[in-house]
Amino acid sequence: MSEVINVEEIFASKVFTRATMKERLPKNVYKEVTNVMDRGGELSPAAADVVAKAMKDWAVENGATHYTHWFQPLTGITAEKHDSFVSHPDESGKMIMDFSGKELIKGEPDASSFPSGGLRATFEARGYTAWDITSPAFLKEDATGVILCIPTAFCSYKGEALDKKTPLLRSMEAISEQALRIVRLFGNDGATKVVASVGPEQEYFLIDREKYLKRPDLIFAGRTLFGAPAPKGQEMEDHYFGTIRERVGAYMKDLNIELWKLGVTAKTQHNEVAPAQHELAPIYETANIAVDHNQLVMETMKKVAGRHGMTCLLHEKPFAGVNGSGKHNNWSLTTDNGVNLLDPGDTPNENIQFLLVLACIIKAVDIHADLLRQSASDVGNDHRLGANEAPPAIISIFLGEQLEDVVRQLVETGEAAHVLQGGKLDTGVSTLPDFEKDATDRNRTSPFAFTGNKFEFRMVGSADSAASPNTILNAMIAEAFCEAADVLEKADDFELAVHDLIKEYLTDHQRIIFNGNGYAPEWVAEAERRGLPNIKSMVEAVDTLTTEKSVKLFEKFGIFTRAELESREEVLYEIYAKSINIEALTMIDMASKQIIPALIKYSKSLADTVIAVKEAGADASVTAGLLKEVSEKLSAMKTALVKLEEAEEKANAITNAKEQAFYYKDVVKEAMEELRTPADEAEMLVDKKVWPLPTYGDMIFEV
Ligand code: ADP
Ligand code: MG
Repeated sequence: MSEVINVEEIFASKVFTRATMKERLPKNVYKEVTNVMDRGGELSPAAADVVAKAMKDWAVENGATHYTHWFQPLTGITAEKHDSFVSHPDESGKMIMDFSGKELIKGEPDASSFPSGGLRATFEARGYTAWDITSPAFLKEDATGVILCIPTAFCSYKGEALDKKTPLLRSMEAISEQALRIVRLFGNDGATKVVASVGPEQEYFLIDREKYLKRPDLIFAGRTLFGAPAPKGQEMEDHYFGTIRERVGAYMKDLNIELWKLGVTAKTQHNEVAPAQHELAPIYETANIAVDHNQLVMETMKKVAGRHGMTCLLHEKPFAGVNGSGKHNNWSLTTDNGVNLLDPGDTPNENIQFLLVLACIIKAVDIHADLLRQSASDVGNDHRLGANEAPPAIISIFLGEQLEDVVRQLVETGEAAHVLQGGKLDTGVSTLPDFEKDATDRNRTSPFAFTGNKFEFRMVGSADSAASPNTILNAMIAEAFCEAADVLEKADDFELAVHDLIKEYLTDHQRIIFNGNGYAPEWVAEAERRGLPNIKSMVEAVDTLTTEKSVKLFEKFGIFTRAELESREEVLYEIYAKSINIEALTMIDMASKQIIPALIKYSKSLADTVIAVKEAGADASVTAGLLKEVSEKLSAMKTALVKLEEAEEKANAITNAKEQAFYYKDVVKEAMEELRTPADEAEMLVDKKVWPLPTYGDMIFEV
């Protein structure tokens, strides 16, 4: 019998929750804190001191020795610098653990080495972390001991955002303000804010750690840079939702426990399409908390894997030829008096507020498709978007039959008189219950799909932070709400004006709606005909950030300044160039030190065999033929290797970040492919005992 887990008891046991605060803080301070959490504003220095002390006491009682301002620089992962609670001892030599309100609220990591895209030169390196009071502090426990982690935003001396969280928080305020204007128009005066909620589904791979350690490509690049396909891939569709193997099951159990303790509502788990691929989804929550929690999910996934002798790969495409991993970003908007703006109800055709919200979203996605695409781009995701299994690189919206029909009626006549209903599901088996089915089937190929009461943005990469996509979603939809409210607040006849506006938006932007198969090649042509952008790679998406359209959007709502956007562009080009550089160098290393030597050794043994067999007077033609083939691959590899080395040299000499990134994409990446091809072909020829690397079969079928 395995131990009984009391989930209710362990849940959030490592979190400084509201309940803990209520227990430990004087009533007036608790009130002040929750007031700031819910309504914004600043904590008084006196209250901050009281909170800091309570937080420290709680943390120390739970074994903490250090605290850290936990933040999310532009690297896409999290950063922390630990400070102990140790203070200066008094005359008697006694030391009392200390933590002040000032230390809680503000930190100043000497963080000049984080990417800032020129926002900070190293001589003006001051960066500050500021407590995000809306995301709860938590305890992280690992070999370092127990650390109190305080979620923070990270800004420069001049207040420019140096992280992913600050713009996200700014965008949440913008959409709240603009969405409130919309709900007020419909008579909802009770709402005081509108919250963007996010539920990120996280896909990942698990492989054996021993094998991982034998693959320099996985270690340095997070993905395999060489590797012939295994005889079996995912074609049998026997892994998706399959029975979870014991070892993986034990991992998932541990992972859930760790996450629950951190207050992450780990909810669903299953095997994904590719062998060795899995998924975890938590219950949705407020966007910034969901983004923080997703970082914890990714981090915990990696940590727990180690305990089980496995490695968790979060890369978007760790193995060629089988599915890659994404992070489906489920997004919705809810008022603080409980109305989900994306809930159509049973009769969406009569739900004017919903139709207006929908029309605004359709308009926003059409206008800013390029930005949305950019928000989901990262180096790894280039292998996924537009490849056969993932959403295409073209943004479109899937509405489903029911809403598409409503939209069609509205565009044609300005009225939606009727609505398709789901009807009963009849299985044809008398002992199975009949139930109401949804009015709409699913469409797995759409990058942006309406799924009942939320939109699911499926493009986001598995390893990426969910901050940028949600910042963009909030910003662009805030803009559409703002423009609609500007018109409607002035209208003499609201009913008429709102109908006209919905019709106008839907008519003007219906080209973005696509309910068909997004994987089909015909869609690419059709999308082009419709004038939808098809941005094929990360580097090509970067400069969408600084078009006049996007600068106007971001500046209008105070989400990014032009300087911040320009710095982000710079950082993205740098990240791209550095990542491909690492991949190229890793390939050069593996080819020179592992694969080519193995081929030489194998050729030698084949040559010896040919000689021996011939000497013995037998026919050596098969071995000789094999030797010839291996030699050909060897020479092809050598040629490609030299070419890659030359490309690398040229790439390194380029000083302009954008130019360099493009060179890596167009030239270096091509050269990498040219090196991979003969190596993978050679792998199919060579004795497995001689091959220096674990194969695809070893890695994804033997976990
Ligand atoms: P599916 O695979 O069917 O899309 P999952 O259960 O894997 O569904 O994940 C759906 C995700 O969407 C979960 O994180 C869930 O909490 C989240 N979600 C559900 N409703 C909403 C909503 N209204 N807003 C945002 N996210 C939501
Ligand atoms: Mg899912």
